[in-house]
Amino acid sequence: MPKCSYYGNEAKQRMVLNTYSGVSKDNLQFYYCNEEHKREIEKFAEYVNKNGMKFIILMLIDLLVLTIAVPVGFALKNIYVNAVLTIIPLVILGFLINKYPFATPDTNRKLGIKKAVKITKIMGKVITIGAILAGVVLVILEFLPK
Ligand SMILES: [Zn+2]
Repeated sequence: MPKCSYYGNEAKQRMVLNTYSGVSKDNLQFYYCNEEHKREIEKFAEYVNKNGMKFIILMLIDLLVLTIAVPVGFALKNIYVNAVLTIIPLVILGFLINKYPFATPDTNRKLGIKKAVKITKIMGKVITIGAILAGVVLVILEFLPK
């Protein structure tokens, strides 16, 4: 028995939606157990279609900034500049993942969209909060007597 693409319980009905499979669009099969879950799956596919490319581009820019900012921060040998340059892109990364909680198609299939979105959003929040905490700890350590 196939599983509901939204919730993971048993499902009979099937539909095909043209949506992202990785970085390109494809006609993908989705199963659903009731009309409400069908609508949730369609809503999610629409959100992914609208924001998928934006998410990938923003992620790449952010990661590029991070890979440049970290060595620059170290070269400047200034703990505050270093902290800001490293933490801001990480905070933005967490925000992006929380705003666009797009797990891999494989994860969506295994967990169902509902759980995959929830877990991905938590990951985004953990990255943002972790980056802010790391910044606070860095600054506190700097103030401690050596
Ligand atoms: Zn369902």
